Amino acid sequence: MTTTTPSTDTGIALTVRGLRKSYGDRAAVDGLDLVAEPGTVTGFLGPNGAGKSTTLRILTGLARADEGEALVGGVPYRELKDPARTIGVMLDARALHGGRTGLETLRLVARTVGMPATRADEVLALVGLDGAGSKRVGSYSYGMRQRLGIGVALVGDPSVLVLDEPANGLDPEGIRWMRRLLRSFADAGGTVLLSSHQLREVEATVDRLVVISHGRLVREGTLEELTAGEGTRVSALDPAALVTALDRHGIAHEDRGAGVLEVSLCPEDMGRLALREQLVLTSLGATAGGGLEEVFFHLTGGEEDAAEIAGISGPGGSALTGAAPSAPAGAPSAAMTTPSAASAAPSPAATR
Ligand code: ADP
Repeated sequence: MTTTTPSTDTGIALTVRGLRKSYGDRAAVDGLDLVAEPGTVTGFLGPNGAGKSTTLRILTGLARADEGEALVGGVPYRELKDPARTIGVMLDARALHGGRTGLETLRLVARTVGMPATRADEVLALVGLDGAGSKRVGSYSYGMRQRLGIGVALVGDPSVLVLDEPANGLDPEGIRWMRRLLRSFADAGGTVLLSSHQLREVEATVDRLVVISHGRLVREGTLEELTAGEGTRVSALDPAALVTALDRHGIAHEDRGAGVLEVSLCPEDMGRLALREQLVLTSLGATAGGGLEEVFFHLTGGEEDAAEIAGISGPGGSALTGAAPSAPAGAPSAAMTTPSAASAAPSPAATR
């Protein structure tokens, strides 16, 4: 039987609690909590070096935590009875052996995890490489390797997928393909945790986001939750008095230049505060729809990180500079908005 259904009826959640891991005196993961639920595609987002890969490596038994726990269905990876049939993992598609063909690669995995050889052919089709199965992996493009890497993760017909930067190197069609694959996997009760350092690569794919920076959780929620009510831009006749008032009330603010502050209050509450403090405001308005880069500026606390994970390239393209309007909240990037034929929609297959 070929089906989209992950291999167990009851879903398996991923749970990370109080996770810490240092390399030398540097904390790669610094007290992280996260949950990825069955039926959900969870995006694990953060700039390069934020600690995503380290977390995923601990979750999948490839590194040990200094403190805290990383559980797959309530137990550490190393205690899973049948890990390869429970959790499919893609950590680095570049590590695939270049001398083997795509089909050989999948057959080897199938044998290792106790699946029939026919599973390799099924998966090859699922990941859209049926025309390239006899070609050596060394001749594959980076995007093809990513597809094969996802295929390797699927061979064991797992209930959980953990994918490190799966969208990296995929073209827009590849990203649409991945979205369909992961959607059908999650809709069938599977759990997906995928990392990315670029929000725009995965925003149309994920249901929830867990945003980290410097090994710590910054925010989590749906994209709508993360972009809702992001704040207000305000300026006052007496800028110093405005700052003093905000500080006195413990309201976070960022200097946007030219006397404009961005504050973590809605415009109405900012107006009330100004009234109470007898401040004359010279401008007041909601931030531009909580543009993604604006949001991630707040989330990660740095322009570079925000621009990187919001997928803004080059100088001048960022609303962080104050000039260009930012994308509307939650707006998918153009590359990911076009629905495409579902004919090639791959789905996790089961042979049992
Ligand atoms: P991300 O996946 O978000 O890019 P990583 O988990 O790869 O982040 O890295 C987090 C931090 O830990 C970085 O500062 C990185 O240099 C460091 N790090 C990761 N793995 C190792 C390692 N094996 N040895 C030393 N430092 C490491």
